[in-house]
Amino acid sequence: MTHQIFQAGAEPRRATRQVRIGRVIVGSDAPVVVQSMTNTDTADVLGTAIQIAELARAGSELVRITVNNEAAAKAVPHIRDRLLALNMDVPLVGDFHYNGHKLLSDHPACAEALAKLRINPGNVGAGSKRDPQFAAIVDIACRYDKPVRIGVNWGSLDQSVLARIMDENATRAEPRDAGAVMREALVVSALESAAKAEEYGLGGDRIILSAKVSSVQDLIAVYRDLAQRCDYPLHLGLTEAGMGSKGIVASTAALSVLLQEGIGDTIRISLTPEPDGSRTQEVVVAQEILQTMGLRAFTPMVTACPGCGRTTSTFFQELASGIQTYVREQMPVWREQYDGVENMTLAVMGCVVNGPGESKHANIGISLPGTGESPAAPVFVDGEKTVTLRGDNIAAEFKAIVDDYVSTRYAKKAG
Ligand code: SF4
Repeated sequence: MTHQIFQAGAEPRRATRQVRIGRVIVGSDAPVVVQSMTNTDTADVLGTAIQIAELARAGSELVRITVNNEAAAKAVPHIRDRLLALNMDVPLVGDFHYNGHKLLSDHPACAEALAKLRINPGNVGAGSKRDPQFAAIVDIACRYDKPVRIGVNWGSLDQSVLARIMDENATRAEPRDAGAVMREALVVSALESAAKAEEYGLGGDRIILSAKVSSVQDLIAVYRDLAQRCDYPLHLGLTEAGMGSKGIVASTAALSVLLQEGIGDTIRISLTPEPDGSRTQEVVVAQEILQTMGLRAFTPMVTACPGCGRTTSTFFQELASGIQTYVREQMPVWREQYDGVENMTLAVMGCVVNGPGESKHANIGISLPGTGESPAAPVFVDGEKTVTLRGDNIAAEFKAIVDDYVSTRYAKKAG
């Protein structure tokens, strides 16, 4: 059955189709899925498997790897096997550009080992080669029953589509500006490629779309349009978001607007890691966007005040940071043992002004003494003051209170 394509101007909506990727469901009322991508050489089986395992442990529910040459294609099934040996069945997504048709047909074990294929219509082949090479990849996806993300990117937009949209624009009584033409070309490229994939036999419930740009306003406009005009699940991400706070802020700004409108079924945060930074940061940011928006819960969140002239020591910053790190590190163990612990809330506050009030709103809160206050730190559990901590051992005692809360307030899982 061919997918319904909505007319421009309709209300944005959540995708109504669901796509199964291994054990993960994307689309419709399924939770928004967090995914990430490795930056290792895929031909390095061990190094890639290690990084995939790190990303999966951090919470990445799908992990994409580049499959860019023969060595990478040969490595894919071995990477999958190493992960299975670690009891890790995170679905792997193969990222193909230029030579995907050849690599997939020459390496059927690679196609079989992957849970999803990602292809970019802008570089699947030029001129007369484009359609047959696109058809060849779709044929392999059908043969191995793999879903496909058709991922358009403005850095590699199909030039023939862009030229056609520009020609059409030139004939309009009121031609649109260059930005609007580019955005229309991105959306049209994604929609026409999806229709072509269905013509070639791929089920409408095996297609996910993305159309990435690196400008926040363009991304919002493109995805609103895409969401109006089709009901395929949408993969959201600001491409080339950048480094550090800029990348985090830009991604959050764009994705929050769209997610709030119900647009987006899986997200990836394209952060450039700091030279010594962990690749898992992009997973943490994706989770924190979803959790702070109230869409999903992954790990207990720590509310902390920014500090001010009332907190001349750095103790409360160290405690807030230490507690956030502690609960994140404990979460893999807690998740296995207790139901619902990811919904726990914690507060670490710097003084008496907002400290007791904010602490009472959290499951567990501590209000540390500000400058000049009596050296006592009242602790509140579910809104009630339970103990006052003093002395040099406050951090360890507070962690013990957190541990006790987890083991007594959350139901132990069976088995
Ligand atoms: S709670 Fe106290 S220390 Fe924290 S920002 Fe407010 S006034 Fe400053």
